Amino acid sequence: MKDRSTQNIAVFGSTGSIGKSTLEVIQGLGGGYRVHSLAAHSSTSLLDEQIEAYRPDIAVVTSAEAVRETGWDRVESLPTRRLVGIEHLEAIAKNPEVDTVVAAIVGSAGLMGCLAAAESGKRLALANKEALVVAGPLLTEAVRRGKGTLLPIDSEHSAIFQALQAGKDRQEVRRLILTASGGSLRDWPKDKLSSATATDALAHPTWQMGRKITVDSATMMNKALEIIEARWLFDMDADKIHVVIHPQSVIHSMVEYVDGSIVAQLSPPDMRLPIQYALTYPMRVTGAATKMDWSESVDLSWKPADLDRYPALQLGFEVAKRGGTCGVVVNAANEIAVQLFLDGKLTFTEIVTACRDVLHHHHYSSNPSIAELMQLDAWARNEVHSWAQIKC
Ligand code: NDP
Ligand code: MG
Repeated sequence: MKDRSTQNIAVFGSTGSIGKSTLEVIQGLGGGYRVHSLAAHSSTSLLDEQIEAYRPDIAVVTSAEAVRETGWDRVESLPTRRLVGIEHLEAIAKNPEVDTVVAAIVGSAGLMGCLAAAESGKRLALANKEALVVAGPLLTEAVRRGKGTLLPIDSEHSAIFQALQAGKDRQEVRRLILTASGGSLRDWPKDKLSSATATDALAHPTWQMGRKITVDSATMMNKALEIIEARWLFDMDADKIHVVIHPQSVIHSMVEYVDGSIVAQLSPPDMRLPIQYALTYPMRVTGAATKMDWSESVDLSWKPADLDRYPALQLGFEVAKRGGTCGVVVNAANEIAVQLFLDGKLTFTEIVTACRDVLHHHHYSSNPSIAELMQLDAWARNEVHSWAQIKC
C-alpha cells in the first residue's frame, strides 16, 4: 500500500553520473523520499549494488545483451522484481505508486519514459535534455495534458527556472543567459582543435560527467542542446536566448529583465543541488551539495561566446528557431558522431561538421508525430555512419 507522505521515485539511468548523484541525494534527504525503481542499461554489477543498498520494488536492465552475458535476470533478489527491456520504463512511469521520475538516461533512448511520465501527471525531474531537443513540443504538451510538473535538473535550466521566479510575467524577460564553461579544450588554439583526441576532450576542467556530455561540452554541442532545451522548457524564442563563456561554473545561468536587472543563481559546481531542488521543489531543504566557502576569494568572469570558434552554437540557434524535425536530426547525428569520435573514426572537428551536413539535407517537417521523429532518428544515425565511411 502506498504511503501518501512518501515521495516514491523511479530513477532511470541510475548507474550513470546523474543517476548515482540522485541516489546520494535521496539518501541524504532521509525520510519522505524512497527509491521505488531503478533502471540501468548495461552496468549490471553496479545495479546489483544499488538494489542491495536501496531495496527498490523494481529494477530494470534495458540491454538484453548485457543480461545474456551476466545472467542478471536469474539472480534471486526478493523483494525486488527484475525486468529486462526498455519497454518496462513506460509501465513504471505510468505506475500509480510512482510520484516522480528522474530521467537520467543519456540520449534519445530516454524519450519514451519521459513522455509516459509526463502523460501520467508525474513530477518529471529531467536531466535527459535530449528528450526535449528531440520532442520539445510533444513533451511539454504531454506535461500540460497530464497535469504533471516538469522540473529541470540541467544546472543552467534549474538556474533559469529559479531566476524566473523573480519576475511576474514573461513579457518582463529581456533574455535568458546560459553560461558555458567552455569545456576541456577551451584554451586550445582554434587551428589545433582538429587534432584533439578522446583523452583531451574527456578531461573536463570543472564538472565530472558521463562521456557523451563531456565531449558535448568540448564541442559546445552541449550548449547547443541547452539552447534548444531552454527554447521548449521556457517557451522562449531563440533570439531571446544568449550564451556567455563563464569558466568558473559558479554562475549557473541568468535571466535579464527588461529594466536591465539580471537575476542569477550561483553555487559551487555540484549537480546534487539542482537534482535535490527538482525533488523537493517548491521547498528548499538542507542537503549534501557543496556550499560556497566565503572565506576564500573567488574571481568570477565571463566573455562573449565566439560563434566562429564554436560552430555548434550556430547549429543550436538554427535548430531552436526552425524547430520541427531539426532537433531529432541534430541530436541523433551528434550521438553517433560522438561515438565515432570516441572510437577514433572521426576527428574532433568533424563531429559538428557531420551534424551540420546531415541536418541540412534532411526532409524538414514543421509538426512531426512521434513515429516520424523515431524514423528520422534512425535515418540520421545511418547518415552519419555513411558520412564517416565516405570521408575515409
Ligand atoms: P552517463 O553516461 O554517466 O549515464 C548514462 C545512463 O544512461 C547510465 O545509467 C546508462 O546505463 C544509461 N543508458 C545509456 N544508454 C542507454 C540506453 N540505450 N537505454 C537505456 N539507458 C541507457 O551520463 P550522465 O549521467 O552524465 O548524463 C545523463 C543525462 O543527464 C544526459 O542526458 C546528460 O546530458 C544529462 N546531464 C548530465 C549532467 C552531468 O553532470 N552528468 C549535467 C546535466 C545534464 P549503464 O551505465 O548501465 O550502461
Ligand atoms: Mg548543463
